[in-house]
Amino acid sequence: MTVKHHPDISTLMAFSAGTLDEPYTTVIATHLAMSEQGREIMHRLNAIGGALLESEPEAEIKEGAVDRLLGSLTGEGVQPLPHREPASVPAPLRPYLPLGLEGVRWKWTGPGVAAADLAVGKDGKSRLMLMRVAGGRSVPEHSHGGQELTLILRGAYRDRFGVFEVGDISDHDEDVEHQPIAEPGEDCICLVAVNAPLSFRSRLVRALQPLFGL
Ligand code: ZN
Repeated sequence: MTVKHHPDISTLMAFSAGTLDEPYTTVIATHLAMSEQGREIMHRLNAIGGALLESEPEAEIKEGAVDRLLGSLTGEGVQPLPHREPASVPAPLRPYLPLGLEGVRWKWTGPGVAAADLAVGKDGKSRLMLMRVAGGRSVPEHSHGGQELTLILRGAYRDRFGVFEVGDISDHDEDVEHQPIAEPGEDCICLVAVNAPLSFRSRLVRALQPLFGL
């Protein structure tokens, strides 16, 4: 399987510089663990960054941040999660999911949608969570109060940007509005980093948002 959707270059550069908060770092590191192509892009960016640093010696970038993360990555190519195999969780995600995806305690956040909080960033705003959308169901149409970084771990979803499958990343900022719909069949499970609540288009959904916790 080939990953078709990659993170924004600006997100990868921030990852490389070590300036991303933990939720975003974890999503990118997990994506890189699943995508050989993603690792190749990252290596090229690092080479460019290294060349830039040589011409700008005063730039402050945490050296080795990427290498440390990449050092823990193993395997070749995209590694889709086999079903009901707790050990299949990619290495950067394992500290958050000691019992694998099957051990997650999901909380209901809307019809056909469940979520589980995994971590909060140092800034107190960014959150790392899992979202699970039943096959054929959708997340209500929304825009974003900040950056929404989503990695598909299982299943697939479709929105106006295309179909997102295992290993794919969607990297959206506040200007983007979309309505992800899980492809029919198996549940779509995503790893998501956000730093602001989602902004739902429907007044009804907005009214119920405190219940959903999104
Ligand atoms: Zn979104």
